[in-house]
Amino acid sequence: MVDAEALTAWVREFARLVHEQRDELTRLDSAIGDADHGANLDRGMTAAVAALDAQSAAGPAAVLKTTATTLIKTVGGASGPLYGTFFLRAAGALDGVPDPTDPAALARAVRAGLDGVVARGKAERGDKTMLDALGPACDALDEALAAGKPLDEALGAAAQAAADGRDATEPLVARKGRASYLGERSAGHVDPGAASATLLVQAAATALAG
Ligand code: ADP
Ligand code: MG
Ligand code: MG
Repeated sequence: MVDAEALTAWVREFARLVHEQRDELTRLDSAIGDADHGANLDRGMTAAVAALDAQSAAGPAAVLKTTATTLIKTVGGASGPLYGTFFLRAAGALDGVPDPTDPAALARAVRAGLDGVVARGKAERGDKTMLDALGPACDALDEALAAGKPLDEALGAAAQAAADGRDATEPLVARKGRASYLGERSAGHVDPGAASATLLVQAAATALAG
């Protein structure tokens, strides 16, 4: 059931995983970036959870919108505006939907979020970014739901697709963001944003499956 409570649980679980994996995200970003991805996202998601705690009786779209605006406000660097855009577009897609708890509405919302990240960051899949995890996850979710799978199985497939996409960034040469400044030397490392995007999808599989 994907209601405001479940979406709040999603954001909380993402924040928990980011906090837990903060050092690993930073380690990945120290190899091909500026070693701040763990700190950036941990700061932003901690603030997002605090903002949700302070906000009472919000609907599904408002939960995602508060998360978005908090991330945009509190995270410097590339990932803040990109994750902010993801949540903002997802919120927009849920706004006014007659039954936002319909799994298809969730799939449309995350697809809108993905499209927002593409529009904002002008990256493509294969550029060694968060899109390499988010894109396959959205595809797997759509495919599983179209095949009539229940939401928990569909989200499990999405989480697996995200992890596979994350792992597949390792040999790639970065074409967007800070890592692209390294050129060929960016190969041989997993992209930090693909790693955090995998946590986002894993959090959805945990929090939204019930
Ligand atoms: P910064 O690079 O500004 O320090 P972060 O370290 O927080 O920001 O985030 C880096 C991550 O952002 C990268 O690993 C990559 O996945 C993602 N990223 C960077 N630029 C783009 C882009 N144009 N489109 C999509 N994702 C991007
Ligand atoms: Mg960085
Ligand atoms: Mg930075």
